[in-house]
Amino acid sequence: MDFNQLNKQRAASFNQQKQLLKKLSAGQTILCETCHKPLKLNLAVEAAQKGQVCCEKGCTQIELEIA
Ligand SMILES: [Zn+2]
Repeated sequence: MDFNQLNKQRAASFNQQKQLLKKLSAGQTILCETCHKPLKLNLAVEAAQKGQVCCEKGCTQIELEIA
């Protein structure tokens, strides 16, 4: 298994999530890729360090670690 490759992919998606979080918290509207409804940022997740981004229909659900 190529761990290096795996780490790169993880870092890439982590950066994407960080960008997403930044835009949402800046009040920008991001649309769900599937249903094209605006994504919502939900910070009231039980784990304190996590936020959740989801759309109205629930086809997008991304858990974000908030550093
Ligand atoms: Zn959706």
